[in-house]
Amino acid sequence: MILFPVNATYHQKISQKFGERKIVYGNNAVHEGIDFACPERTSVYAAKDGYIILAHRTTNSSTGYGNHVIIDHMDGTKTLYAHLLNIFYEEKSEIHAGNAFASSGGKAGTAGAGRSTGPHLHFEYWDHGKKIDPEPYFTLTPQEYMQKLDDLEKRIKRLESALEYGLLRQVEDTGEVLIHPQFKEKDSHLNDITLSLLAKHSLQPLLREIDADKLKKDGWVNSTELKQ
Ligand SMILES: [Zn+2]
Repeated sequence: MILFPVNATYHQKISQKFGERKIVYGNNAVHEGIDFACPERTSVYAAKDGYIILAHRTTNSSTGYGNHVIIDHMDGTKTLYAHLLNIFYEEKSEIHAGNAFASSGGKAGTAGAGRSTGPHLHFEYWDHGKKIDPEPYFTLTPQEYMQKLDDLEKRIKRLESALEYGLLRQVEDTGEVLIHPQFKEKDSHLNDITLSLLAKHSLQPLLREIDADKLKKDGWVNSTELKQ
């Protein structure tokens, strides 16, 4: 699962796919990434959480990737972003999915453009060192992802107030979380989020007195039964 490294305006504008043969300065080579046609200075976003392990800046305008960044996602995969105009972070920086860490370049002849014939972002996805086609792994745009994070944050806030108002209770012996019948939040992550909130707020003493059987008779439900 990786995010598009450019926003929605450009992620449909793939000017060169993975595996296509291309002729670059007389060399016949297989394209090992994806090119997004986008104007110079387009924001470039991290495709996944990770660390910048290479932030290569060069004044040479005629070789290879030019200015480029490699992010290690710590799960065996890495992503590479090439022909950049500016790189905003240094090596070893931690980076989160959707963070804008560079701006695109690629205009032929400009410093850092490398071997590029026009403005674009060249993007590679490496799985255990092997360059693979990223297209099947794209899920969301950075904007859609941010919206999801935002929604999650709102959901956590609702759960926190539900805990405060006693709409969620944890049974001491079994650890099961019981939910008040009027509590409307129903989704498959509710159990995990609730458990982590309970741990964070150390509400155990507050919950010791509860009589799970009585609550269930009153319509309280076990949070694990709320899978969508
Ligand atoms: Zn390319």
